[in-house]
Amino acid sequence: MQKIPFAYPLAGDEEEQAVKEVLASGLWTHGPQAAAFEEEFAAFLGPGAHCVAVSSGMAALHLAFWRLGLTTGDEVIVAAQNHVATAHAICLLGAIPVFADCEPVSGNIDPSLLECLITPRTKAIALVHFLGIPCDLDAITAIARRHSLFLIEDCALALGARWRGIHAGLHGDAGIFSFYPAKHIGVGEGGMFVTRHADLARDCARARGFGVDKPYSDRPIPGIYDVTSLGLNYRLSDVHAAIGRAQLRKLPRFLQLRQQNFQQLSAELVRSPDIHVLQSRHPAAISAHYCLSAVLPSTWTNHRNTILQYLAAAGIGCSVYYPHPVPRLEWYRRRTPYNSAHFTHAERISDSSVALPVGPHLAPEDPGRIAHTLFAALEESLR
Ligand SMILES: *Cc1c(COP(=O)(O)O)cnc(C)c1O
Repeated sequence: MQKIPFAYPLAGDEEEQAVKEVLASGLWTHGPQAAAFEEEFAAFLGPGAHCVAVSSGMAALHLAFWRLGLTTGDEVIVAAQNHVATAHAICLLGAIPVFADCEPVSGNIDPSLLECLITPRTKAIALVHFLGIPCDLDAITAIARRHSLFLIEDCALALGARWRGIHAGLHGDAGIFSFYPAKHIGVGEGGMFVTRHADLARDCARARGFGVDKPYSDRPIPGIYDVTSLGLNYRLSDVHAAIGRAQLRKLPRFLQLRQQNFQQLSAELVRSPDIHVLQSRHPAAISAHYCLSAVLPSTWTNHRNTILQYLAAAGIGCSVYYPHPVPRLEWYRRRTPYNSAHFTHAERISDSSVALPVGPHLAPEDPGRIAHTLFAALEESLR
């Protein structure tokens, strides 16, 4: 029986040819590919986008918080139901993540909880468009503006997602994307920092490459440069950028397939009144589904892991997004005692959901097979 991977990066002759050309050019980094990828990515996002290609989504998050000036003792409100990267980037700067629970329909941060978490030390709100489902940006941008807070959008799972027609990542001060192979487009390891502020983009571009004032290609006298800020090496190599450009050309098709697979799979799953499929019902939201997260009734919580094992044994790639609310992860629990009463919805998703594939690697009959296998797993677990 054919296995259906949870995620599978699709590369073809275009990616292979692009890599060969970069290797043959001798310009493996500092070359024209990363700059071209930034321009094409900005064009995909839409007007006003400035893009800085970096070596991972985590690197983009670290740069964003660092260059926005986050420092020791500052507080940032973050979604509890999220990848650990956002909170880690905050902690790396000595700042403090203040976790907010999600709302149960979409799994996104609950805007109604934000204002009571704001203190005089709050500097920013960092949201994640959970699984490619846009947050309520009307509510969140209004709160950020009212309290003069930076807004950072983690769009690592949301390439293609829009709110009121504007792409995710362009609603606040900064956005980040990831090109880890399981994401909407992959390059191996890579990411993109995006912002509407041209000066912030320039600053991040400099900090990405050791704080050097002139990139390699702009040095009138070879070997002569100065260093005008502190920096890191978070550059994206030209090899990776060339793969990214080839993937970006395929993105519209990938997004169409993700949408189609999500619709087909959720149409099958709604036949069970017990299953809730995380999604946005807001008319302003266009989702770019990373996967389909099926939240099971709490009566099934004790069986959830058995259901995952059943699916895996039946060849259905599945996962959990995410297995713990971030404040329940061991490192965070050690810093701040975990209070489960504050994170009931995030916990429900961590403990009772099953994430199913909707990627462009699926065959037309796969959504049906995935749904039937999940129903069989549920039935089996009640025996
Ligand atoms: C993948 C991911 C990241 C980290 O991106 P990397 O490129 O793996 O560093 C951050 N946030 C979210 C929501 C992610 O899914």
